[in-house]
Amino acid sequence: MLYLFCGILSGAVLAAICAPLFRKEETLESAIIEETEWDLLQRKKEVILGNIQDLDFEYKCGKLSAEDYQKVRAEMNAEAAVVFQQIETLESSKDLDALIRREISARKDRSTTTCPSCASKNPNTNKFCADCGAKLKR
Ligand SMILES: [Zn+2]
Repeated sequence: MLYLFCGILSGAVLAAICAPLFRKEETLESAIIEETEWDLLQRKKEVILGNIQDLDFEYKCGKLSAEDYQKVRAEMNAEAAVVFQQIETLESSKDLDALIRREISARKDRSTTTCPSCASKNPNTNKFCADCGAKLKR
């Protein structure tokens, strides 16, 4: 009885995991265009985590021997670790990039004065606008 229940449930889990994969195939063309490296890694992660969940479940149901389970699980763990590492690297580089851009624009704001007359940017050291000659506020 328990075995039957597990079988039905794991079938349902498998269908739930596979359904989005089939759907993705239909829209693969548009997905390729929009997909960034980060999206790709996120999807990879989801698939691996889904596989691990499935494996755990099948093991709990007694479908796998402890030996098989540990072997496959170790492989999946290694796979997941690689993807996690890649995501982390990508995210930290993204953060750094955004941080640098933010710092640069903040510096620009600090070091320039916007002309009240023509709105062009002048260095803070200018007393008069280089474009229109209007007096700049300090
Ligand atoms: Zn001006």
